[in-house]
Formats: sequence, structure tokens, C-alpha cells
Amino acid sequence: MSEIKYSAGFRPKMSIKKKLVLSFFLAVLLPLILLAAVNTFIFKERIKKETLDEIKITLSGAQGIYYSQGNQLKSAFLISSNNPYLINAITHKNISFINSLIESYTDAFGFADYIGITDSRGGILAGASGASGFKPSFERMMFNVFHTGFPVVKTALIKRIALARMGVKVTGNGAYGRRSSSDMFLVAVVPFIHEGKVIGSMFGLINLNGNSYLPETIYNEYHVNAAVFASASNAQVCISTLKITGNIFRAGSKLPNNIRNKIIGGKNLVKEISYNGKDVFAAFHPVRNIDGHVIGSIAVFVSNRQYLSIFRKIAIYASAVIILGLIISFIISYIASKDTLNPIFAIAKAIQNFTQGDLDTKLIIKTNDEFEDIGKNFTGMTETVKDREERMQKYNVFSNFLVGSLDLDNIASSSLNILEGLLNLSSGIIYIYENDGRSSHDNDERKTALAGQSDDAGNALHIDNHEGFLIPRKFYGMGKFAAGKIKADEGVPGHCLSKKKTIWFHNIPENAALYKDELLENGGTEKLVDYGFCEVFPKDIAWLPLYIGDVNIGVLTVSSIYGFNKEDISFLEHVAKELSIALDNARLHETLKELSITDELTGLYNRRKLNEILEIEFDRAKRYNNNLSILFIDIDYFKSINDFYGHKVGDVVLAKLGSLLNENTRSVDTAARYGGEEFVIILPQTDFKNAVYTAKKIKKIIQDLKFTQIDREITVSIGIASLPDEDIKSAEDILKTADDSLYKAKSSGRNKIIGSFAGKRTQID
Ligand code: GH3
Ligand code: MG
Ligand code: MG
Repeated sequence: MSEIKYSAGFRPKMSIKKKLVLSFFLAVLLPLILLAAVNTFIFKERIKKETLDEIKITLSGAQGIYYSQGNQLKSAFLISSNNPYLINAITHKNISFINSLIESYTDAFGFADYIGITDSRGGILAGASGASGFKPSFERMMFNVFHTGFPVVKTALIKRIALARMGVKVTGNGAYGRRSSSDMFLVAVVPFIHEGKVIGSMFGLINLNGNSYLPETIYNEYHVNAAVFASASNAQVCISTLKITGNIFRAGSKLPNNIRNKIIGGKNLVKEISYNGKDVFAAFHPVRNIDGHVIGSIAVFVSNRQYLSIFRKIAIYASAVIILGLIISFIISYIASKDTLNPIFAIAKAIQNFTQGDLDTKLIIKTNDEFEDIGKNFTGMTETVKDREERMQKYNVFSNFLVGSLDLDNIASSSLNILEGLLNLSSGIIYIYENDGRSSHDNDERKTALAGQSDDAGNALHIDNHEGFLIPRKFYGMGKFAAGKIKADEGVPGHCLSKKKTIWFHNIPENAALYKDELLENGGTEKLVDYGFCEVFPKDIAWLPLYIGDVNIGVLTVSSIYGFNKEDISFLEHVAKELSIALDNARLHETLKELSITDELTGLYNRRKLNEILEIEFDRAKRYNNNLSILFIDIDYFKSINDFYGHKVGDVVLAKLGSLLNENTRSVDTAARYGGEEFVIILPQTDFKNAVYTAKKIKKIIQDLKFTQIDREITVSIGIASLPDEDIKSAEDILKTADDSLYKAKSSGRNKIIGSFAGKRTQID
């Protein structure tokens, strides 16, 4: 017995269904959610980065505008610097001509806040506002330009005092309002060179603070949410604001410190910032003055709403993909769980049915996987158990039957019947081993057997000299010739019994001659094959010895056209053992029964059996109003035979008379030894006349007997009684009536027949 164990170790108590759902969440849903989260994060970062990159590009474009303003002035001034009339006007300080030129420039370049012309020392000759005679506060830049002779565009802080003198309009409040403070300007300066000397310059200022032209241009060109110039020159940070959605930076408001610090440090700043409760993407680019100092920063802002809407859109797509993924996973998981759970449920149900006693339970799982194997194995198991159960039932059926009968013929024929039903037999024979030739208590056969015994008057019992016979007691499925009486050591059955072993011919080919060798090896003769064992040639034949210890009982021979398997044979071996015991018992019982009703010396029924039969015959005769006669016979002077010739000779005479009486009566008649040298013969359906006839016949036969040992006649006296007779009312009466007649026959001289008919006693012979 093998025990297959599997332990999963500690597990919280949980149904497989729950485990599957949990594992689905852990294996599918959780990673998916994490993936979605990571993706979202990465995606968000990416979008942010892309947005910032976009802003950077915008900013560089904004810077382009910022410089192009100054450069526009520069290139316009450059053209003017070659104008001989202008040079002449500067040289000769022709102010009115200069003013008219400035006026036309102011018209042409409206974005400039101030356009002016200086002399060779940087003093203003004429300006947009008309004021003159002073130097603007960007002298250093001027000096450089005059010194090198190259035009320059740069940012510069110009003091408010100077601006006021120049008549430059300054808008704004707070920091702008203070006279000591400066304002940020983009300054373009172009020198006028005549005969290798700088004779003056033309300059333009573009205010970078307030509602100036520059941020608006950037705003319009690049569709940013806001474009500003943030000044870093003073403690009070000034900001130029323009159409900022949600008013992110108002003019004059302070920049957050971290931004301002970056600006002062002259670094680029590109990031998502939070200001005044708003999240925006911002890019700041430092703006330097002529001294290289950072004086502020030009910046663009993009609301993060723009980015959020893109992200939201992408998030919707991503969610749709995730949901689709989930649905697919759910479907796959559902199918997987169905494929796992349903077979398990089926197995559980099958086991339950089987446990509740349904041995026919079949488990058919068609999954093309291990479950299918489990199903097959389970069904195999139930079939095996069912087979065993059925075999047990067969054993029981057979055993129950065996304990139910003591009759040998019944046991033999019923055994074959039962085996036929249990094993699908085609033919069967039960041979009974006999070593004395007596096999039956049937009356006819009994008479035959007894007749045989009398062949040799010197022997009371006939005993065969050979080893015995196997006599087919019962058989079916074959002609009588096939189941003939054989010698106990003859053929396969004889071999089987003498070797006390099962002989099994398995899968016999249709041409049984092929089995010749095996047959001969097992004690068979070719003749036995020719016999055949059943009407249809069987596939398998089995011979099973019936014996108890050294006592031979017989042989059980069975055949099947369907064949036997090993289990059938082991069942048959079991059957053979039980059958041996049962047959032996029955045989013993039969012998005992025979002995109990038979007179050993004469072989006739004894007085007990006589009474039994007489009762039956008397009742029958009375019921049907039949005739019935009995003869009461007594040997005359038998005592003197004993006395004269000896007791043994007396026995011979008695035995001879017994067989004679048996032989000379009909099969329906019953001859019995009543006791000593008295015999009774029951003659059913025999009237008085015919009884007389029989009595006479018997008397004559006995009288004519010659015994070698006796030299005198043996005579008998016979009393007859017959029905119908009104005085005779019982079996006892009829016997007594006959006995009375016998008594009369004796007393009237012996060797006489006296009968009683219709109440009258008559001497016949
Ligand atoms: P009767 O003519 O009056 O019948 O005289 P009988 O001698 O035959 O009668 P009785 O009843 O006096 O004798 C019967 C004898 O039968 C007595 C007995 O020894 C003898 N006998 C009874 N049974 C047996 C037996 O089994 N064997 C032998 N040898 N003799 C027997
Ligand atoms: Mg007598
Ligand atoms: Mg007598």
C-alpha cells in the first residue's frame, strides 16, 4: 500500500476560488495599477519636460524679438550715419534739421521710447522730447562706442532724473515713482564717423518696464500666457506685466525670492513654479547691462492648464487601455478559474457520490490536461472497486447457495447455473470422483446397481479394482458424448485432479489443434480435443480440482467463449474449494441417508423406509381410491437353516432373496426387509388378484432357487392384504392384515399364500 502525501505547509484557510481572485489581484491587477501609476508619473515628467523645452524655444524666440527691436534701431541709425546731410547738420549743429529727422524716426519706430542725437562728447544735441545739452546716464556705453567706433545694442539702467531731463515718459508706480531709482532700457547707439573721427552718435531707448512694446510683442507672437521683464536692479523688484491670465505677476509686485536670486545670479531658470497659488511653467533669461551686470530677466509663462489638458487626454487613453487590459485579464482569469475550479468541483462531487455508495460513479473530465488524467484514474479506481465488490457479491451468492443445500445433485447443477450467471460460461461439467461405481440413489439406478451386486453371490458388496472414475454428475452446454465417464487418471480432468492443480487454456485458437502440445502436456489426449467442450468452441477452458486434503472429490470444468481473466480464475479456485467441501458434505450426507434407509445385508429398504413409503402409498390409494396390495413374506424354518448350515449361509440366503425380490418387482413396487427373515413388498395400484399373481410368482422363484451350500428347498409363506377394504383404515391396518394372513399361512403348514380380500381370508396356494 502506498501513501501519497502532499502538504502545502501553513496556509490561511481560504477557498481556492478566493485564492484565485487574490492571486489575480496580486498577479494582474496590482502590477497593472503600479504600471499605470509609474507610466503616469513618467508621462507627467515627460510632458513637463516637453513643455519646458517648448518654453525654452519660446524664450529664445522672445529674446530674438528683444534684440531685434534694438537691432532695428541700430540698422536704421547705421543707414542714417552715412547720410551726408545729417553729418553736415551735426557738424554745423543744425538743430532744426536734426529735430526733423528725429521726428520722422520717432514716427517710423513707435516702439522706441526715445530717439536722440549726441555730439562727439556724448551730449545730447537733440531728442524726441526736444530737451538737449546734457549727457544721458549711459556714458560708459557711449564712451565705448565712441572709442571703438562700432555700434552697440545693450540693456542699461537709466536714472529717473536723466529720463526726466530727456523728457522720457515713465509710467508705473511704486518703485518707478521714486526719483532716485532707475529704469531698464534697451539701448541702441550708433556712432557717426566723419573723416575718421567720431563726430557724434544716434541712440534709441526702449523701455523694458511697464506696458512697453516688447512683452506685448512676445505675448502676441508666441501665444504664451504671459511675457514679462523682471528687473533685478533694486531691492524692490520691478516687473513688467502684460495680459497675464490670472494676473500671475503684477507690475511692481515682488518676485519670489528664489526666482529673484536666480536672476541676480545671472542664471537661466526654466521650471514649473508656484506663485500666488498658481502653477505655471516659466523660463527666465538674464538681461545684462553695458557693464555686464544682470539687471533683470526676460521671462515667458505658460499656464500648466495647457499641459494638464494634454495629460488628461492621454490619461483617458491610458485608462481606456488599462480597462481593456483588465477586461481581457478578467476574461482570461475567469476562463482559467473555470478550467481549474469546475474540474475540482466535479472531482469533489464524484468522490462524494462514490463515498455514498454509488460505485458506478464515473468521472469524465474533458480538459486535455492533468484533470483529464485524474478523471480517468478515478473512473479506473471506481471500476476496480466495483469489480471487487461484485466479486465479493459473487462469492457471497455462491457461498450462500452452498450453505443452503445438502443435496449433491442440486449442488452440482445449481453450482453450474450460478457460475454460468456469474462468469458467462458457455459450458460446464462437474465430475464426481467415484471409486466404487455407485453414484446415485435414484430408484431405477439403485435397482441396476443392486442387480450388479448380485452378479457375484459370494460378495455382498461390489468393489471396483481400478483407481476410480470421474463421472460427470451434471453438465451443460455440450452433447452427452462430450461429458463422458472417464478414468480418474485419464485426460485433462484426470491430470488436473491427480496433480491437484488448475489447468487453464487461455485464448484457444479456433484451430484447437494448435493446443495439442499443451493439451498433451497436461495429460490430455487428442480425443479430448475432439470431444469439444461446448457447442461453440470456447476461447478459454479451465479445469479445477475438487479435493479435500488427500480425498478426491472431482473436477470442475468450465469454458467460456468470451474467455476468462486472472480474477475469474482466482474466483473459480475459490469456488472450487468451497464446492469441494459442499460436495463432500453432500456426498457424505447422501451416503448416510442411503445407509439410514437401507438394509445392509439385502440392499433393500429397511423397515423404517418401508413404513415411510407405505404411509405415502396408503394415503395416495385412499385419496384416489386406487388399489394397493402388500405381501408379507417369511422364510419357513429359517432358524433351522441357520442352525444346520451356519449363520453365514443364512446371510447368503437372505441377501439372495433380497436381490431376487428387487429384481422381480416393478420399479413402482417397493421391496423391504421387515426384519430377520421377513420381507414386505408394497404393490401400488395392484388389486388383490394381481397381488396373488405376484405372490405366487415370488413363491415359485424362491422355491426354485438352488444354493450350492444348501441341499434343500427354501420356501416362504406369504400373507396378502389389499385395498379397497373397508376394515383397513391405516397403513398399520393393512400391514397387520397381511401379517395376520401370514400367521395363518404359517399355522396352516407353511409354504402357503393366504390373502384377505374384502374382509374374507382366503387360502390361495
Ligand atoms: P417359521 O417357519 O415359523 O418362520 O420358523 P423360523 O425358524 O423361520 O422362525 P423363527 O422366528 O423361529 O426364526 C427366525 C430365525 O431367523 C431366527 C434367527 O436366528 C434367524 N435370523 C434372523 N435374522 C437373521 C440374519 O440376519 N441372519 C441369519 N443368518 N439368520 C437370521
Ligand atoms: Mg419369522
Ligand atoms: Mg420364518
